[in-house]
Amino acid sequence: MKKNNINTGVFQKTKKRIFLSNMIGIYIFMVIFCIFLYFYFRSVTYRGVDDTIRLELTNIIQMGVDGDLANPKEILSTQNMVYIYKDGIGKYYTNNHYFGSNYPDHSEELHGKFKSYKIGQHFFREMNVSSGDYMIQIIRNIDGEINALYQIFYILIGFGIVALLITLIIAFILMKKALEPIEATWNNQVNFIQDTSHELRTPVSVIQSKLEGLLRTPEYSISDRVDDIALAMTETRRINKMIKDMLSLTKEDSIIRINVSEFNLVDLMEDLYESYIEFAEIEEKFLTIENKTNSDILNISTDKSKLRQLLVILLDNAFKYTEKGDEISIILDISQRDRYLIYINDTGIGIAPEDLPYVFDRFFRSDKVRAQDIEGSGIGLSIAKLLSQNISSELSVCSDLGTGSSFKIEIPKSKK
Ligand code: ADP
Repeated sequence: MKKNNINTGVFQKTKKRIFLSNMIGIYIFMVIFCIFLYFYFRSVTYRGVDDTIRLELTNIIQMGVDGDLANPKEILSTQNMVYIYKDGIGKYYTNNHYFGSNYPDHSEELHGKFKSYKIGQHFFREMNVSSGDYMIQIIRNIDGEINALYQIFYILIGFGIVALLITLIIAFILMKKALEPIEATWNNQVNFIQDTSHELRTPVSVIQSKLEGLLRTPEYSISDRVDDIALAMTETRRINKMIKDMLSLTKEDSIIRINVSEFNLVDLMEDLYESYIEFAEIEEKFLTIENKTNSDILNISTDKSKLRQLLVILLDNAFKYTEKGDEISIILDISQRDRYLIYINDTGIGIAPEDLPYVFDRFFRSDKVRAQDIEGSGIGLSIAKLLSQNISSELSVCSDLGTGSSFKIEIPKSKK
């Protein structure tokens, strides 16, 4: 069965769009987070520096209260450079290798506000306040802090790049995982549309050619063209059956939604037997039921109507692909430790070994069946497969041409 996905391009585009929008979303969040982190570290760093400057100021003012402000006894932190001015003239400074005895610029009135600046290669944080006739200027070299902030800045950029790569990979894997079922459904739909149009083309062309034949020969009566009309009718019936089967496939949703209940499997099998026995008699076929449980009660938990639907598809096929005098049997077997087995066997036309791998594919019909003009659409077994998967069972087939077929349903015992 072909798997030609004409619309994969559309799906790839959707994938790319979802991937990009997710990535952009995640990345904008990460950039905002990094900016916040950087400014947080920056404010913590400055707050630490400012606190020591503020403490130094309080200390110096305190010393001025206790004695001579222009002659402080000691400063709290040797990293602080203190300059004291009286009437604009420098009176005291702590020795340092940044400014030394050159009083730094103090013309700007900061009025207790902090400012940062850079002179040459060095960074400083400064604050000055007035106390009586004095103006106290405290400067602190913050090269270490600024370097630390630069390092944090570079680390965050590095982190951003690595995180971008990691999120790229994770987002790609997650998107692939999340889209897998959607992609499978999408591909199924595409295949389904391709298969349907392909399958409908043949009967429609047959009907068209037969009708054209009728139009071209109006002199003939209906009885003259009865073969053509019959063929067109057969093809109409095929289309009709196909449409009906396709409709039931569009209700895949209802196939997928399961409704588990506990019921007696023996009852279900006997019900089915009862509903087919009359048909078997009419068709002159032998329908038998074999209950290997030796009991009338076998309670199991699964979706009863889906299991029934599945058995009906297999029984319908068994009748369709057998001839007068053939045997069809329904067998229930519990000999396996972990599973119940249900067989629908027939002694009908059988399936060729080369066709066996394809019988559960949508629209597959063996050449023999097509040649014998047995009505069908090739959809039944694909629905059966879907049904079995949804009730967590396994559906398989053994068959030989001319000997018959055996379809087996395995229902796990633990699956309640
Ligand atoms: P349909 O019966 O409408 O053609 P299905 O999907 O039910 O479609 O079956 C697919 C094909 O598998 C059939 O066309 C037929 O070739 C083969 N097949 C299914 N069941 C049997 C059976 N019991 N015996 C022989 N061949 C079968």
